[in-house]
Amino acid sequence: MSQKKWYQMTPEEIMVAQNLESSKGLTSTEAMQRLEQYGGNELSDGTKISPILLFLGQFKDFMVLVLVGATLISGLLGEYLDAITIVAIIIMNGILGFVQEYRAERSLRALKELSAPNANVFRDGVVLQIPAGELVPGDMVLLESGDRIPADLRFIETNSLYAEESALTGESVPVNKHTQVLMGEDIPLGDQRNLGFMGTMVTRGTAKGIIVRTGMDTEMGKIADLIQNTETMQTPLQHRLEQLGKILIVVALVLTLMVVAAGILHGQEPYGMFLAGVSLAVAAIPEGLPAIVTIALAMGVQRMIQRKAIVRKLPSVETLGCASVICSDKTGTLTQNKMTVTHLWLGGDIIEVAGDGYDPQGELTLHGNPVELANNQMLRRLLQVSVLCNNAKLVEEKEEIKHRKQALDEPLSMWSIKGDPTEGALVVLGAKAGMAQPATEALYQRVAEFPFDSERKRMSVIVEHQGGRMACTKGATDVLLHQCSYVLWDQMVIPFTTTLRQKVLAANEGMAKNALRVLGFAYRDLKPTENATHEIDVENGLIFIGLAGMIDPPRKEVREAISKCRKAGIKTVMITGDHQATAEAIAKQLGIMPAANGLALNGQQLTLLSDDELDARVQDTCVYARVSPEHKLRIVKSLQRQGHIVAMTGDGVNDAPAIKAADIGIAMGISGTDVSKEAAALVLSDDNFASIVSAIEEGRSIYENIRKFIRYLLASNVGEILVMFLAMMAGLPLPLVPIQILWVNLVTDGLPAMALGVDQAENDLMQQRPRGARENIFARRLGWKIISRGILIGVCTLAAFLIVLHQELGTEAATLVKAQTVAFATLVMAQLIHVFDCRSSRSIFHRNPLQNRYLVLAVLSSLLLMLAVLYIERLQPIFKTVALNGQDWIIVLIFAGIPTFLMGMGSLLSKPPKRKSIRYGTTKPVIR
Ligand code: ATP
Repeated sequence: MSQKKWYQMTPEEIMVAQNLESSKGLTSTEAMQRLEQYGGNELSDGTKISPILLFLGQFKDFMVLVLVGATLISGLLGEYLDAITIVAIIIMNGILGFVQEYRAERSLRALKELSAPNANVFRDGVVLQIPAGELVPGDMVLLESGDRIPADLRFIETNSLYAEESALTGESVPVNKHTQVLMGEDIPLGDQRNLGFMGTMVTRGTAKGIIVRTGMDTEMGKIADLIQNTETMQTPLQHRLEQLGKILIVVALVLTLMVVAAGILHGQEPYGMFLAGVSLAVAAIPEGLPAIVTIALAMGVQRMIQRKAIVRKLPSVETLGCASVICSDKTGTLTQNKMTVTHLWLGGDIIEVAGDGYDPQGELTLHGNPVELANNQMLRRLLQVSVLCNNAKLVEEKEEIKHRKQALDEPLSMWSIKGDPTEGALVVLGAKAGMAQPATEALYQRVAEFPFDSERKRMSVIVEHQGGRMACTKGATDVLLHQCSYVLWDQMVIPFTTTLRQKVLAANEGMAKNALRVLGFAYRDLKPTENATHEIDVENGLIFIGLAGMIDPPRKEVREAISKCRKAGIKTVMITGDHQATAEAIAKQLGIMPAANGLALNGQQLTLLSDDELDARVQDTCVYARVSPEHKLRIVKSLQRQGHIVAMTGDGVNDAPAIKAADIGIAMGISGTDVSKEAAALVLSDDNFASIVSAIEEGRSIYENIRKFIRYLLASNVGEILVMFLAMMAGLPLPLVPIQILWVNLVTDGLPAMALGVDQAENDLMQQRPRGARENIFARRLGWKIISRGILIGVCTLAAFLIVLHQELGTEAATLVKAQTVAFATLVMAQLIHVFDCRSSRSIFHRNPLQNRYLVLAVLSSLLLMLAVLYIERLQPIFKTVALNGQDWIIVLIFAGIPTFLMGMGSLLSKPPKRKSIRYGTTKPVIR
């Protein structure tokens, strides 16, 4: 008999087949052994390029090959030293290119690994969170709504489980999963309902499963080659620069040809001219540009990681700098998500709850007098529902954590919450009032749960007690009221009249206006015969008990971050599932909402607005309250129609469409689901709004750095070509010999350009409007700066050359060598001075040149490399140089300094560019 398929086995058979001895999962030793036996749970992506190939790739450039050819010829003609030196320079250039590309490749790989998902697994009897890549067959994993299934597994426990398997089966509607054995022989994948497959998503429910296949053995692994992540990691800018690079090659080649032709026409020796032309082409083509762009992006992304923002999609780094609106969740992102119940409302009375944080210490008082639990049936009911309809746990911190906190100077608390903080606050409330959760749960056993989600805005459980069943519900008051027919009032159950409902709503509003998050509570006893399988059967005819209001203080750093955004022309919008009054109160505290009202919309109003009406209001609205996830999508699209570049946060499964639709989708690293993280371009590792602002700042800075080194490289190249071009047109001797041209290229292009890529941002970076998404890289006078500096560098180098050429110095040949050496030194020095100018959008006088240490080091090493060929006697004949004296250096430094000095003076004398003022709330959109 052939071996049974996984779906044909019972959970017990699966455990036997996987050598899983206990329901506590594998031991860590077994897991280690299996990891060695089966390898990691990863799909090989086949994109790894070997370092050797990467190195050889540096020499496949056409012009470099021509240069090698030409060098070989010169070697054959007896110019051995020349040939060897040129080959050495080419190899050094290759090494530099290799290092740049290798670093870029490594950084990209590290980024990919950072965004790899985790999994919850039973090991040694406890639930651990480990990287999904470390899972092995036999591991028992726990799954919940929003999780990505980390490997192929057989479900052994499911709770209303649905999985979306479109990546594998093409079926986009989530399918229901169960644990029953399937008997068919060749059941198609889509019908193997008791198996979960790697890479598919849990859209609803919870489950436990045993892994049966990992890595390339999974169904996903079998088609890994087909679904190879073809999504290019290239950003639009990289793509445009690649195009630009091609144009520059043609331009450089045409100009070089003209230089060669002019030289030959004016009587230069053809072979020498050919070699000079090829060298010039090699120097003028900015071959390092793509690698430096990648490095600047990757290094910037590393900095973002330090600032708690993990980039999942590289192109978003560029878009970040264009963001004009940030739509942010409230709870946990703008606020601390550290809830404490401070007020209860029961039948018209307000009970105050003392105490801070999660410490279960604090008195309950009514009009200043302690409240007796025994005498207050309404309070007992409210506490009962709040601790039973609850999945959070209050735990005492372990000693080692206390010590760690002490060492880090963090606030010391003996208590913490496992689970949702809103629910945690209710457990703490119970403990303060004398209704501890463990004791209550021992009396009332839970038999069913209808979980909370942002759509329903409520949660219910059914508990059994002394043979009877009771439904306990808690949720947003306005939603819960629709489910209630009775109310507890004066310790009695009475019909819930319109007047009483209005009283509840008024109390709710009053608490919310004080920035409290308010939850309502209700219950009812279920009849013995009553069907309680579906939520609609249970959540009706409930008895309303009362309200709990909890504070959730704003995060300290957020106010400043919002003000920074305003200065940067970025509008902040709060989108929350919470009550409008709570949302508005917090928005005012944080400065999102100006004092005047009328800039908030709630979910109900939003539903009634047509797209056109929404478009008319979206520009001025800064708070959206009581929204459901699908509203978020409408808001994103409306903002985009107004020309905004939208950053949008989200955490739940249903937030994924809005996250995807936003220009920059942002997911929460701590509280977010895998689904939201996979849809997102950016993941916040601390769930904090301020980290979004830091990421935007870095995004802007990266873009500006790219502009800086493009400016540097291209202006240098214009200078190099121009000096040769003008000399040949004027029928002058060659101002630079081929080896010198190659050396200039080597010493000036590599390190200084890389150092510019990691330059510090300018001070006013966050005081400028966001740039337009379609802005040309040469915009804001960059093109002019490149051309003007390039021309000045070329002309000044030529002038220095001519001055020395017309001095009376010994023989004609000696004069030429001296003039060429001066030209060589002037060109190098002009570029090394100009590189400091590139750091500022204004001029060299506007920034401290020593601030970027990498740049200072790079320039010093370039300087040394230049001095080496001037002053080391053995190198002089190879590089056709002579030692320069003090007088020569005066000429070199004057002419090398002129371009930067002239431009700097011009900028100092001209008025600073006028910055348009930004009016809050009406940020003018950029054209998309
Ligand atoms: P944000 O969208 O900014 O994170 P939020 O957390 O307030 O805001 P939701 O989680 O969608 O948004 O909550 C909406 C409402 O549902 C809350 O105002 C509260 O009344 C209610 N609620 C929140 N958590 C629970 C829960 N665990 N059980 C029952 N009701 C809840």
